[in-house]
Order: sequence, then structure tokens, then C-alpha cells
Amino acid sequence: MIALLDIGGTKIAASSGRGAAIGPVRRIPTPVGSPLATLRGLIEGVMGGVLPEAIAISAPGPFDRAAGALREPPGMPASWHGLEMAYLLSQRFDCPVVVENDANCAALAEARLGAGAGHRTVVYWTVSTGIGCGIVRDSRILVGRHDTEGGHMVLWPAWLGGPPCHCGGAGCLEALASGRSIARRYGIAAEQLRDPEAWAEVGRWIGLATVNITAVHDPDVVIFGGGVCGSWSRFSPALFETVQQSLHLQPQPEITRGTLGEDRSLLGALLLAEDNGEDPARLLTAR
Ligand SMILES: [Zn+2]
Repeated sequence: MIALLDIGGTKIAASSGRGAAIGPVRRIPTPVGSPLATLRGLIEGVMGGVLPEAIAISAPGPFDRAAGALREPPGMPASWHGLEMAYLLSQRFDCPVVVENDANCAALAEARLGAGAGHRTVVYWTVSTGIGCGIVRDSRILVGRHDTEGGHMVLWPAWLGGPPCHCGGAGCLEALASGRSIARRYGIAAEQLRDPEAWAEVGRWIGLATVNITAVHDPDVVIFGGGVCGSWSRFSPALFETVQQSLHLQPQPEITRGTLGEDRSLLGALLLAEDNGEDPARLLTAR
């Protein structure tokens, strides 16, 4: 069995799995201290005393792809910054450890088993406290040298007055349409926001990001998930309208909500670990 972890700023989910099926999911609030002991305890709990064959981790970005370590993901307590998960957990459990960006894990799961099944090029956006993006082509996650964060695509540059982003830049998609930015701009949590014009603006920014990523990757389908998509009916009309108005050289991709629910990142992590046999050098991190 493969041990599965999905690490986030507010909660950590753990499970175990094989093939394309995961077991019961355990969730705990992300503790401020003792990150390594927390992860060890979760793995031991979900494995029920059996040693894992491998450990697959869905990590908040940005993470250090080469080292399989967290960097300084926004929202994570400082004790988690720099945690070398791949090395430390592979030492403790004597097994390979896969670490991948949580949006990439979710994208892989939706591409193979969810709303993207049967399509060749799949874009997945998670619109939650922050915004992440994963691209799957021919059933494989597209990765570069580092861990990319599509939420920091710049749509409203600083020289035109774009609002500051926590990444140090300005006018990123995440500074315009994430749950965090909605709370900051409108002084109310996204799930409580009712102002139609505010939601139309959110939808236009997400639509613009969808146009840009479509211009580059020409996806068959663009899939949305994450907590802010609970308000899909409020912002999707402006999203669709923006794509229709702004995309001229390509046919529109299908735009839809994901079908796998909040465990999709755990499932994607499992799929990555299962791929290990086919492509160990690319996917497994242990040193
Ligand atoms: Zn940014």
C-alpha cells in the first residue's frame, strides 16, 4: 500500500491506496509545531502498522522540486518552511517518496479519472484561498525546472496600478480572484459575498487567465475546483463571456467544474506514485 498525504495551510489529509482507489481519509488541522512528527504519525495511522511501499505527498507550492522540500508556502506555519519531507520520510520509512504540487496532483486525477478523462490536454485551476494551476498532456503532468504557480500569472501589472500580491509582485491572478483577495478587497469571506458586480469582476479575471492559458496550451478542457467554486453560478457567466469575447484564433475549450471532490489531490498523488515503475527518475525524490 502507498501512504498518501495532502498538506495544506489549514488542514492535512492522509490516506492509503493502491491502483486508483484510496481508503478512508483522515483530516487534522495543520499544527503550528512538530511538522515531521505529525506526518510520521499520520502515515503510521493510515497504514495500520504496515510499512508503506512508497509515500506520495501533495504539497502546497512553491516547493523545492529537486529536494522534495517545502519552501515557504503562504499560509503554512513557519515551522514547516524548508521541511525536507522526501529525505526525512524516506529515511524514516525506508521507501521512496514522491512530492508534487497539490494543483498538479489534482490536475492529474481530474485528467485521468474525472472531468478530463478521454481528453489529451487538460488544464485544471484550483480557486481557493490561493489559486493554483496544473496542466496534463497525454496523461502526464507538465513540469519545468521548478515548481510553477499559475496563480501568479500577471493580469494587471504594477505600472497600471495592479494591487500588490503576497509573492512580492502585483496584479497576479491570485491577488485579484482568490478567496484571500476577495476577503481583502471586499472585506467579507467569498462564501458570504453577494454583490453581483464583485463576482462579475472575479469571473472576468479568471476568464482572462483562461484565455491566456488557452492561447499557450490549446487545451481540450479547462476544469475548475476549490472552495471559491462553491460560488460557480455567481462568477461563471462573466468567465464564459470573457473567454468568448477574448479568444479569437482558437475554438473555445470546454470549461467545466471538476467531478472528483476534495480528495482529488490525494488521488493524484497516488496515481503519481503508481507511475513510479514506469518513470522512477522523474517522479521519485529520495536522496
Ligand atoms: Zn503573485
